[in-house]
Amino acid sequence: MFLKTYSMFFKGLNIFEIDRVFFDDFSHHSQSEQKKVNYRTKQVLKWVYSKYEDNPELFTDLSKPLRSELNKKFNFRSLDLVDYQFSKISNSIKFAFKTLDNEIVESVLMKHPGRYTLCVSSQVGCNVGCIFCASGMFGLKRNLETHEIVEQLFQIQKFIFEREGKRISNIVFMGMGEPLVNYRNVLKSIEIFTSDWGFNISKRNITLSTSGILPRIYDLVVDGVRVKLALSLHSPFQHEREKLIPIAKKYTIDQILKAVEYYYLNTKRRITIEYILIKDVNDSVNHAKELVNLFKNYNMKVWVNLIPYNSIGNIYFEDKLLEEPKIERIREFENIIKDYFEVSVRWSLGRDIDGACGQLRRRIISN
Ligand code: SF4
Repeated sequence: MFLKTYSMFFKGLNIFEIDRVFFDDFSHHSQSEQKKVNYRTKQVLKWVYSKYEDNPELFTDLSKPLRSELNKKFNFRSLDLVDYQFSKISNSIKFAFKTLDNEIVESVLMKHPGRYTLCVSSQVGCNVGCIFCASGMFGLKRNLETHEIVEQLFQIQKFIFEREGKRISNIVFMGMGEPLVNYRNVLKSIEIFTSDWGFNISKRNITLSTSGILPRIYDLVVDGVRVKLALSLHSPFQHEREKLIPIAKKYTIDQILKAVEYYYLNTKRRITIEYILIKDVNDSVNHAKELVNLFKNYNMKVWVNLIPYNSIGNIYFEDKLLEEPKIERIREFENIIKDYFEVSVRWSLGRDIDGACGQLRRRIISN
């Protein structure tokens, strides 16, 4: 079998596209040889996504000539692991990768009892501009390609499988970038994460986090993407939300919640509301009560995730330095809303490992 030579990134392709590459070389052959094509595709996919091996030289059930053809045909690696840090105060590991064009991409592996969750990035930088986020400070450099998103899971899965024999069961798109701005590449990576020929992770265990890119929320329903959705709300007041998340000027909170409700009604997936609590900015009793009022108009099951602000340096909001809220304020806020929503308080993981969004990247770049 001699594959035509053109280079492509293996981890950006689905089973049909890989099959097509093999097919090109068998298209004039018999039906039995076509069956061999499907079989070869599955063999290679199994090596990569089930055995976490992406060096074709080690695909020992393939002939040597075919292995070397695969090497010529496909590019199997597009990220280089340049740094990782274990957190001493939380069970998490932060990874930094370098892309082929020398950009830095971050991912965080969080170990919870009985499950490992990976937080992946979808863009280099971000143009949403949340004032509390280190990634947003750089602006958007570019979207990540599908293979670069998939590569984060592949390399970290291989890393943890070789050390601990564990599999990653949950993915959250909460790293650098707004995933719904990089819609097509993110959807394709989800296809590779969830397919039985890919990582075979349940769609229920994948969460897409968005600042509220309205048309794409509707598109998720039309495209049949049945993952969990998390909305970064951060304030129940439109004028204030626009200051915290500049892109929020584009759509009102009501427009976004209507879209999110539509998503819920069509998927029956519980909606997560992410709310970063910032001292004296959005942590008042008034904010908590308004949050409750806001959702009275909508028919959806909501989980509120309260995230105490994790300082990333001297950042001001209307002349106020952004600071962590007091613990009593967090509890008071939680107590007001807990009769209406399921609530959790997510203490930021890994402050000792540059845990705030984009900080590991910033340190590597400045070094
Ligand atoms: S918090 Fe997320 S959406 Fe906001 S600027 Fe940072 S990466 Fe972008």
